[in-house]
Amino acid sequence: MDVLSPISSIKGIGEKTNGYLNKLGVYTIEDILLFFPRTYKQFPDICEPTIENCKSEVAISAVFKTPLMSKKTSKMDISLGTAFSGSVPVEFIWFRAPYVRSQITIGKTYIFFGKLLYENHKFKMEQPQIFEVEKYIALQASFQPIYQLTRGLSNNIVKKSIGLAFETVKIDNSRLPAFVEKRENFYSYDNALKKYHFPESFEELNEARRRLAYEELFYFILNSRLQERKVVLKENHWNIKKSKIVDSTIEKLPFKLTKGQSDALNDILKDITGNTISQRLIQGDVGSGKTMVAYLAMLEVVANGYQAAIMAPTEVLAKQHYETFVEYNKTFGLDYPVALLTGSMKAAERKSMQKIIDEYESCFIIGTHALISEKTNYKQLALVVTDEQHRFGVKQRELLAEKGMDPHMIVMSATPIPRTLAMILYGNMHVSVISELPSNRIPIKTCVIKEPSRKTAFKFIKDELCKGHQAYIVCPLVEASETTEAENVTEYASTLKDEFGNGVSIGILHGKMKPIEKDRIMNSFAKGEIQILVATTVIEVGINVPNATVMMIENANRFGLAQLHQLRGRVGRGSDQSYCILMNSSNDNGQSKRLDTMLKSNDGFVIAKEDLQLRGPGDIFGIRQSGEFSFKIADIFQDAKELEYANSDVDKLLEIDPKLLDHKYVLDSMNSFIRNQSYVL
Ligand code: ADP
Ligand code: MG
Repeated sequence: MDVLSPISSIKGIGEKTNGYLNKLGVYTIEDILLFFPRTYKQFPDICEPTIENCKSEVAISAVFKTPLMSKKTSKMDISLGTAFSGSVPVEFIWFRAPYVRSQITIGKTYIFFGKLLYENHKFKMEQPQIFEVEKYIALQASFQPIYQLTRGLSNNIVKKSIGLAFETVKIDNSRLPAFVEKRENFYSYDNALKKYHFPESFEELNEARRRLAYEELFYFILNSRLQERKVVLKENHWNIKKSKIVDSTIEKLPFKLTKGQSDALNDILKDITGNTISQRLIQGDVGSGKTMVAYLAMLEVVANGYQAAIMAPTEVLAKQHYETFVEYNKTFGLDYPVALLTGSMKAAERKSMQKIIDEYESCFIIGTHALISEKTNYKQLALVVTDEQHRFGVKQRELLAEKGMDPHMIVMSATPIPRTLAMILYGNMHVSVISELPSNRIPIKTCVIKEPSRKTAFKFIKDELCKGHQAYIVCPLVEASETTEAENVTEYASTLKDEFGNGVSIGILHGKMKPIEKDRIMNSFAKGEIQILVATTVIEVGINVPNATVMMIENANRFGLAQLHQLRGRVGRGSDQSYCILMNSSNDNGQSKRLDTMLKSNDGFVIAKEDLQLRGPGDIFGIRQSGEFSFKIADIFQDAKELEYANSDVDKLLEIDPKLLDHKYVLDSMNSFIRNQSYVL
């Protein structure tokens, strides 16, 4: 048996568990070993059963003085009884756990961990976990892994299954170049995996993370270096001459381009009229107006008699760009055709769009990944822009480049990272930075609130709706993980309906919806038919509805600040004052302090840096920055130093062994790393 064997071959994983895990995308032993905890929990200090402690998960010590009783209904076996915590009686009940009755010794003190309830003047605990006192105290130092679940699958089963997987296979530990292992003195790979799942202390967790995060960065960079070798700078065979059309269009704009926008545009124009094909990253914070830069650059290409395409990460965004481009052409009196290609298009629609591409040598092409599908053919594709590019775009860019016979490549990103990091992550691209926002922007007013102010917040949103504006609400994250994302959004939206009444139209948007559904919702939000859009973080990327003036984010404490910043950037895009309401559902002081950063700055990079400094050790594992570079473990902000190390280590490795002839094992682990990323390559 090896790591690629199916999990069903592990002794102890039955058909049912296998099915649940498959649902979560876990098929092989390797999959389950890399099915990392979503977060960790520590067992709390032992406390007294008091009214204040109710409703939360607590640990209390108690003694049974009489044996537990059993009750059998037709459906299940119930064990129940009363134990004493000091002199306070607490009722206990367990369902479908007959073994509890023989497990508990009368007169012995145990720790019971679970949710404490107070009903009919009595304390009660349902289904608590039972621990011997010394065992509980030892466990308190450890971090309990919390996994993503699906209905029917418990956290304990996942934990057990992972434990079994470790017993079943031998993990190969030769993965990194010897000089790295020696310098870093990392945990061995198998030990790092084990401790990342089951850390017995914070130090162990941290050490395990250190290795795994470094590996991700190292393989990522190595992979892109190897890819880049294939993308040597190619000769610019397009005959593009500077035309007057860009300047005359700029004159017709209802606003003045910012300096950053015109510098970035000039960089691109210089590239595409130069000797080699362009490979450029345009980095600009949310709302800095990257779309306009893309449009103008594409216009130059189109006016020169070629095709220019822009690829967006989502259907919603592609559709939005399409509408924007059609609108611009109309406003500026340009009659170049615009074609849209997305995966969910019907055959007839697709055909008519393909016809545009077949017939016009000068046209704008907009789409999703569908642009690189085999069915799509281009004529004279001279420029490709990828918007809000995801990492690993190298391969996608290559595929598109092959279709277009070496087009100029522009990548647009909103991830606020310093130029040096951008250069590592984007390999050999040139970088242009748009560092300012358009000057007509009214800064977004941000506030952090707590549960008691919820009513006031909703009232405030109502007032904004009355003024004809719209709002986004990012719904609470699923904690129990028993419900699916879809159920959760739907449920939350229905509580909002009660709150706002029938007169307000509420729409929902989540990642599991069909593209066509998402489109319908986004379109009707853009048209103003939907007043409140309840969504998961799918709205994070790129959407532009200037009439939306409120962004409310539930459970804001559980997001990385960089991600909150991206979400906030969805408002403040028009001429009206916009607002961002962050709901802090944590009682932790550190969290309030962290969220307060959002009040102080509007600069994505400043925010991301502050976030790091303010995060306590425990937070490092619970909060994901997400965004374009979502590694499983590493975080480009938190691990910026390691990223630089990994970069120079890759350089060194390729210098001493350019073809990796003596480091085949490094190449193999890199390939398995690539295989295990859930990204399109
Ligand atoms: P992002 O960089 O986040 O992709 P967008 O391209 O979506 O930003 O632009 C956000 C909004 O700003 C759009 O409504 C766009 O029309 C507007 N905009 C772009 N450039 C300027 C400018 N120089 N002055 C004023 N508004 C601008
Ligand atoms: Mg954008």
